[in-house]
Formats: sequence, C-alpha cells, structure tokens
Amino acid sequence: MGYLTKSLNFLFPKYCEHCGDSFQEGLSNVLCRACFNSVTPYEDPVCDHCGVSLPARSFEDAIETRCRDCGEETYYLDRVRAYGAYEGPLRIAHHAFKFEGMESLGADLAEKILATTIPAFWQGVEALAPVPMSPERERERGYNPAVLLAGELSTKTGIPVKFPLKKIHSTKPQMSLTREERLKNPRGAYKLSEDSTPLTKIILVDDVFTTGSTLEECAKVLKKSGVGWVGALVLGRTARY
Ligand SMILES: [Zn+2]
Ligand SMILES: [Zn+2]
Repeated sequence: MGYLTKSLNFLFPKYCEHCGDSFQEGLSNVLCRACFNSVTPYEDPVCDHCGVSLPARSFEDAIETRCRDCGEETYYLDRVRAYGAYEGPLRIAHHAFKFEGMESLGADLAEKILATTIPAFWQGVEALAPVPMSPERERERGYNPAVLLAGELSTKTGIPVKFPLKKIHSTKPQMSLTREERLKNPRGAYKLSEDSTPLTKIILVDDVFTTGSTLEECAKVLKKSGVGWVGALVLGRTARY
C-alpha cells in the first residue's frame, strides 16, 4: 500500500456495513474481507431449480433433485446454481454493486459464483447470456449488473457473453412485489434479439433469484427458439416464504 493510500485511509477510514469495524483491505467501501468471506456458500446437494443447499437426506428418494419450494413442477430452466442466501454481507455487497455503481465488486462476486459450480455444469456451454434490462432502465443506471457479472465470468471461463434476448417492456422490481405478482410480472417481457445465433447450451446470468420467474421466462423464450439446455448462475437466492 502506497504512502498516499495509507494517509487517505487514516484520514478517511472505511467502516464495514456489516460488523461496523474500520478496515483497510475490503470490498470497495462497504465490507471488510472477513465479513465477505463469512458468507456460507450453498454446497452440494443443491436444488436443481433454485440452487439452495439442503441436507443430503432430503433427496434420498427423489427422482429430481428439488427442494420442497420448487416441488415437482416442470420448468424450462434445466439447472440453477446460486452462490448463497441473499442476506447479510452478500446483500450489502450486492446492493453496492447494483445500486451504487461499485462495479469493482463484480470480479469478487463472479469468483464466488464460479466456486459454486462443478466442471460438469459447464460441459458444452456455448454462451453466457445476461438477463437483459429494459433499455430505459439501463440508460438510467448506466450499466446492467448482470452484464458486468457475465463479463467477469467470461474472463474466468473463456466462454463468450452473448445477448440472445432483449427486454421489450419494463417490469416492476421483483423484490417490491408479492409472490403472486412476482410470478406474473415478467410474463411476455422478453423476446429473442435480432442478433441471436442458434445455440444449444446457454447459461443465463442474473444477480438475484427471487421466485425464479424472470429466469424461467427467459429460459422459455430460449427453449422455444430451439435452445436445448438452459442453466442459470446467480449471486444470491432470497428466502421465499
Ligand atoms: Zn465486517
Ligand atoms: Zn428449489
């Protein structure tokens, strides 16, 4: 650390939003390293549809690896992996990344997401596709967090980022709605983009999994266009009930 940085840290110490301690090395200005590293990643076995980890015995007699929330329904999404529960330090880091433009957090967050996957998840995957924002919303914010995450994941895996989808009308933020509203909110909001090339295996990238209905809607459009397998990677999964 240079003399100038040291002096600035002394004059303007950073305080962790989770534990309240001052820190020098951390994530942007929001979290100390210890708090960020304290997030418990979801570990196998995990639910194939939402990524939550559950005790191994929950899946003993199941045909599909699903949690009770995701049940026996048929989904367009083939597999979802999430880094961890959307709460505590992960929520603070995500909030800074999404709403305060702390784009430098993207690389750290992408690394954590990547650590939740096994090589088989990536077998034959041709593209990483960020869930699109509406053009108006993206202009307003200046960037789409899902695009930044996908870019970081692409740098680490060598799989290209593609944009097979576009958002054709704005939807309300999922976290501001009731469960019933969340399920209906993304319907019909996504279409194939003009530059979509035929692909057989795609991984969608998004920041938060709330009900999964946004990712499911995107997967539906992709599957109907002939994509054979659609997975998803997300940072955090909210508690749903
Ligand atoms: Zn802390
Ligand atoms: Zn589940």
